[in-house]
Amino acid sequence: MNCTFCHTAVPPHSRNCPICQADVGFPNVRVTQTTEESGALLVRVQDAVLSSKLRGCEMVLERFERTVQDSKAVLCRNLELLNDLVSSENALYISFQKQVKAGMRLPKEDLWEIGRPAVESTLFPHYEEEINFMCLTLNNRGLTNYGAYSITLKEPMICRRSSVFEENPFLFMEKHRVVAGHPVPCGFRASWDDRGKLAMAKLHSKLEKNTKMSNSLKFC
Ligand SMILES: [Zn+2]
Repeated sequence: MNCTFCHTAVPPHSRNCPICQADVGFPNVRVTQTTEESGALLVRVQDAVLSSKLRGCEMVLERFERTVQDSKAVLCRNLELLNDLVSSENALYISFQKQVKAGMRLPKEDLWEIGRPAVESTLFPHYEEEINFMCLTLNNRGLTNYGAYSITLKEPMICRRSSVFEENPFLFMEKHRVVAGHPVPCGFRASWDDRGKLAMAKLHSKLEKNTKMSNSLKFC
C-alpha cells in the first residue's frame, strides 16, 4: 500500500509510513483487507453457503454467523497474573515474545515454545512481537489449560486492532505444511468485523438442520 498523505510505499509490517510517520493502520488488520485474502475468504464463504443450502440448513448457517458476530475475545490465565493486572492501573499485558525479550519470562524447552517464534513470524512477519493471542468465546469462558481464570476483553478497546485466524497457528502450519518464512495460504484470516464469516467458512460442515444456537455451542 501507499501512504495516503505522501504516497510513499509502506511495507506490509509497518504501522506508520516510513517517511511522514502517518498512521496507516494495524498491519494484522490491513493484511485481511488485501484482495487476495478477502477474495479467498469470500470463495470459502460462498462454498459454505452453497453446501448449507444443499443440506437444507442455510438458515442455521445465517444464525450461526450472527451468533459469532456477538462473540468476545477471551484469554485464560492464573490468579497471580490476573491479580497483577487488576492491582495497578499501569500494568500492561504484553505478548509472549515481548516477555521473553524483556527477560521477564523463560521460554520452555518444548516443541511449542521453540517453534513459536518461527510460526508467529511466518504469520505476522516482522511484527509478531506486537501480537497477543486470544480465542473467541460465546459464553465468556476460554481455554482453561492456560489458566483457570477467563478474561474477556471489552470490544470497543480491541475491535479496530484485532484480526481473527482459522485456528491455533502452530497446528495450522503443520496441517498446511507451511515452511517457516513461506507465504501462508489465503482465506484463513479476517478482520474483527468479519469473524462471523470466518467461522462460517471453518465450521459450516458441522451445522445441521436441528443445530441450536446457545452460549454453550461448542465445535472442535
Ligand atoms: Zn507518508
